[in-house]
Amino acid sequence: MKNKGDHMLGMMQEWPLLCHKVIDHAAIYHGKREIVSRSVEGPFHRTDYAGIRERSLKLAQRLDRDGCRLGDRIATMAWNTWRHLETWYGVLGIGAVYHTLNPRLFPDQIAWIMNDAEDKMLFVDLTFIKLVEMIAPKVPSLERIVVLTDDAHMPETSLKNVVSYESYIAEADGDFAWAEFDERTAAGMCYTSGTTGDPKGVVYSHRSNVLHAMAAMQPDMLNLASRDRLMPVVPLFHANGWSTAFSGPMTGCAMIMPGAGMDGASIYEILTQEKVTITAAVPTVWLMLLQHMEKHGGKLPDLSRVVIGGSACPQAITKAFQDDYGVDVIHAWGMTEMSPLGTLCSIKPEYSHLEGQEKLDLQAKQGHPPFTVEMKITDDENIELPWDAKTFGRLKVRGPAVSSSYYKGRGAEQFDAEGWFDTGDVAHVDSYGYMQITDRAKDVIKSGGEWISSIEIENLAVGHPDVAEAAVIGVAHPKWDERPLLVIVAKEGRSPDKQSILDFLDGKIAKWWMPDDVIFIDEIPHTATGKIQKTTLRETLKDYQLPTG
Ligand code: AMP
Repeated sequence: MKNKGDHMLGMMQEWPLLCHKVIDHAAIYHGKREIVSRSVEGPFHRTDYAGIRERSLKLAQRLDRDGCRLGDRIATMAWNTWRHLETWYGVLGIGAVYHTLNPRLFPDQIAWIMNDAEDKMLFVDLTFIKLVEMIAPKVPSLERIVVLTDDAHMPETSLKNVVSYESYIAEADGDFAWAEFDERTAAGMCYTSGTTGDPKGVVYSHRSNVLHAMAAMQPDMLNLASRDRLMPVVPLFHANGWSTAFSGPMTGCAMIMPGAGMDGASIYEILTQEKVTITAAVPTVWLMLLQHMEKHGGKLPDLSRVVIGGSACPQAITKAFQDDYGVDVIHAWGMTEMSPLGTLCSIKPEYSHLEGQEKLDLQAKQGHPPFTVEMKITDDENIELPWDAKTFGRLKVRGPAVSSSYYKGRGAEQFDAEGWFDTGDVAHVDSYGYMQITDRAKDVIKSGGEWISSIEIENLAVGHPDVAEAAVIGVAHPKWDERPLLVIVAKEGRSPDKQSILDFLDGKIAKWWMPDDVIFIDEIPHTATGKIQKTTLRETLKDYQLPTG
């Protein structure tokens, strides 16, 4: 900001908050701290912060030689491994923009997103080569594809301009200096898919990433220390990897990267073998781990806390971790637009006396914000509502690591003149600032931490010749949190069956978007303006249970 008056200014240095200063700090003061990865090729791989920095510099040098410049978008479609971490820092170090792609989206959606961002290069794991073969021909801006492996593991592929990561960086000697630029420069991109319209690009800055990581590591948040061994199970392609790529190195803690091993057995193996002390992921992952341990036995002697967010954490998970395994649960809420952490449910002194069910009830709340997040709840007329743990309203936030707009100005209606961002969530807050989500303003279905757009399925279903109207709602599911249920009103005189509807959707949406069941009713309830009234529909179907098996 410019000094508008002649008032006295502080006499402190301008030290831009650049992400690559984080890896410098880690390499200088915690250089030998381990970074352990389950490689996509199979074996465990071990390096340290000094090693990550050295190779990130080589990558930065190589990208620079390839003509990558400030602001260029470099996509990644990759698991959490040391190579993915190096890619982020290499990209950041020349002022280019890491753009994480979610491989679980439908190929056409990924191509749309890549074209919107005009990605220049793509760094991809071996797992996703076939997927990229479908997408790459549809993305004209893509100049080169780097496969995150070595020459020995390079696959047969129809892709053009493709090279292994190891041979790519081997062409650089690492004699290179990070670029210096304005801390507000774009650092990363991550698209968020809403219920309607096109996906919206969230653009992080170097400054927002650094400030957010400093907020995230605080004692009342992740409580990270150099003594910790942090395992981000949450993929880097989910909501900025919950900032772990920055908060980890900033603290100098060891990092354990689970690679593609996301099943209960693999998570258990790496947690115990690598003596992880803190880990983070969506509830589905923890359900798989707990089920694995229930079946095969096991203990978690080194794990002190587990961060659970992305969707509401079921009490059974909190109870099992705390009572059966002695691991504290930290429930977290956030959004891609918030870098992403918004609130964490650590226990303030006002609640330190709680035990048993009362404590579990507190932990079902999404928690309180760190410094840098401002929060309020309002009614539809933007009138602020009281914090009485009962009155709920639209949850709005602002802060230096909250989006000020989406890429290309989409979704402008979510931002107001005072800088408040409407989260689309509905919540109440108690007098100590503990927030609890009560509903979603929109009706996306969250399956295993991933979004399923109800409207997209509805729109397709009504294309079936026998369907008059369709509505999709989320139904609770023991493993995936929620699964879609498709509710159909048939055209008069027609009687389509479940299979013909599913056959009709097959190939038009991703497999995991397919509704778990299709039911037929006479009429779907509507609002005054003719919109489907999902609250009423949910109420009507509250006793409905998904078929098992
Ligand atoms: P995303 O941007 O994909 O991380 O999704 C953000 C949305 O996920 C939020 O707006 C909430 O609707 C939901 N969400 C995230 N964390 C939680 C949580 N702990 N409890 C309930 N909903 C959550």
